[in-house]
Amino acid sequence: MRVIAVEEHMATEAFLRVAHGLDVVPGDETEMALMRMVENPPDFRARLIDLDARLREMDVLAQDMAVLSLNPPGVQPYSAADAVPLAREFNNALAAIVRQHPGRFGGLATVAPQDPVAGAAEIERAMGPLGLNGIMINSHTGGRYLDEPEFAPLLEAAEAHRAPVYLHPRVPSMLGAYRDYGMPGAIWGYQAEAGLHAMRLILSGTLDRHPGLTVVLGHLGEGIPYWLRRIDNRHAFAMRTIGAATPMPRLSLMPSEYFRRNFVITTSGIDDPDVLDLALRTVGEDRIMFAIDSPYEDPAAATAFLRDVPLTDDQRTAIGHRTAERVFGIA
Ligand code: MN
Repeated sequence: MRVIAVEEHMATEAFLRVAHGLDVVPGDETEMALMRMVENPPDFRARLIDLDARLREMDVLAQDMAVLSLNPPGVQPYSAADAVPLAREFNNALAAIVRQHPGRFGGLATVAPQDPVAGAAEIERAMGPLGLNGIMINSHTGGRYLDEPEFAPLLEAAEAHRAPVYLHPRVPSMLGAYRDYGMPGAIWGYQAEAGLHAMRLILSGTLDRHPGLTVVLGHLGEGIPYWLRRIDNRHAFAMRTIGAATPMPRLSLMPSEYFRRNFVITTSGIDDPDVLDLALRTVGEDRIMFAIDSPYEDPAAATAFLRDVPLTDDQRTAIGHRTAERVFGIA
């Protein structure tokens, strides 16, 4: 069975050298102090940069393909003036890597939401001449979320150029009580932040304005499949009671209908048969893709999970590669 993993992070030496020399925007200092602690040790840096080693590891695990993306939070903690050219240069390098290894690497472009018009132009370039497979946005940008009107050009471009938007977590914009015990990161804060962002897209009516948008969530949907029935139920209750007094747009669909129409989820970081079973019953195998989340998770454990978890042949084929081929336009 062909195996395609779709949340596989990397960086280039040039990107890290330039990015680590830039000033971080106010509010993102804590996250970037943490990220530089993660990115700087030579062994981890090598795991981000050395794609020949990545290919050898993929060969050992019979993993055919990795859809690569820049290590989070990408260009988003920098000023627009710094982030726009940084994204362009990174995407040029990523496209060159993908061209050198057809069938082994795909790529999700990085864009700078700080400048939505430049971001829209970069989406057009990524999906056109660069031949990439979609884009990754690492949740909030300077505390702003994609449902806010300023980002409409970005979402219009993603919809027009059929660029799936992988909405990847980052440290929550409102750090507050997440600050302690390692919780800003993937233990809890990441999921809370990305789940919040997805809920904003659903509840704001953004997906009525952009019905063709495809949003990809990692971590088997960032908790939303678990909550989905309650979200519908409480959304209807809130509309009946406080909806008129609070800014709650009238939606044309129930929240769960947007989740099943516009979202595709990946297995990144959750090798749990019970959670996968819930996800299958919530969205079905044609909206689930395999992902490892390398280099943060163990590729051997993730590929063993895909191979061994109880599934029908059709479910395993869909999760292993078929959904990714459809969503990301992989031949
Ligand atoms: Mn990740």
